[in-house]
Amino acid sequence: MALSNSNVLGWAATDTSGHLSPFHFTLRENEADDVTIKILYCGVCHTDLHTIKNEWGVTNYPVVPGHEIVGVVTKVGSNVKKFMKGQRVGVGVMVDSCQECECCEQDLENHCLEHVLTYNSPYKGTQTRGGYSDLIVVHQRYVLYFPNDLPLAAGAPLLCAEITVYSPMKYYGMTEPGKHLGVAGLGGLGHLAIKFGKAFGLKVTVISSSPNKEAEAIHNLGADSFILSSDPEKMKAATGTMDYIIDTISAVHPLGPLLDLLKVNGKLAFVALPGGALELPIFPLVMGRKLIGGSYFGGLKETQEMLDFCGKHDITADIELIKMNEINTAMERLSKGDVKYRFVINIWNTLSSSNIY
Ligand SMILES: [Zn+2]
Ligand SMILES: [Zn+2]
Repeated sequence: MALSNSNVLGWAATDTSGHLSPFHFTLRENEADDVTIKILYCGVCHTDLHTIKNEWGVTNYPVVPGHEIVGVVTKVGSNVKKFMKGQRVGVGVMVDSCQECECCEQDLENHCLEHVLTYNSPYKGTQTRGGYSDLIVVHQRYVLYFPNDLPLAAGAPLLCAEITVYSPMKYYGMTEPGKHLGVAGLGGLGHLAIKFGKAFGLKVTVISSSPNKEAEAIHNLGADSFILSSDPEKMKAATGTMDYIIDTISAVHPLGPLLDLLKVNGKLAFVALPGGALELPIFPLVMGRKLIGGSYFGGLKETQEMLDFCGKHDITADIELIKMNEINTAMERLSKGDVKYRFVINIWNTLSSSNIY
């Protein structure tokens, strides 16, 4: 069946219960600079969960989530030279920006004040719809080549989760081989930080409050060591041993114990968004000339570089592949942190078959 822009099938949440169900919508037409993509797989990000429940207070219902999109090009506009029909492509967190501000000119479109998110953003008189659907139309600048050596499903989470971790590691210079990286929190972002750390030649230690994650971190994900954050002796023994820390903890948490783990000149980067303010102890920062920074996914050029790096180093996410009609259970499980480590929806052969007309 040919896919039509006027009757696209997706799954949407319609109220704060966050329950997702089939939803038909009209997609904007493919213009000269656009690429139309048949969606094959879409990763399930924490942002999707926050958004369907309106936890950040910005949701416009009905909302079709999904910003870890992998698919195949079905149509290109007359100005599009770099993509062609049949090509494997990805779409991440954003689908447009002003294209002329300082950020856009420096390939930092993710910091453009007018950047348009892949879903739940007002755009061209309508609202953007994400990857829990059949089709998407995206300006070519925001479409990424998806390397042939990357598996489609396990590669989908690279589009959001992976750039979120890769970008600060590159920007803050956390890539010097032989240095010691601490990964605080072991979830979707944390497990990818381990993989990048190892690919960059770092020694990687996971810092977690869950003792049952030790075996997983070391045996399955390749971390070199594990520190239980609630064990004061272990934490003390590791004082001043780390060059870098990637903090992926999404709950409000004390920073002092993490800063103590850093060496002089150590750097800590936040990649998660805790729902409240964190207390910042100044003494360890000043005395140890330490640096704290944040990072918010990445620009298109860097995201492409990250995808190519993942293809070369065989980095993918550990995923649980689900059918479209399993999404509500998956969201329940995600809210409890019960996933290893990313759900990915098989859109291409379960979206329409799971439709409830
Ligand atoms: Zn995301
Ligand atoms: Zn801009």
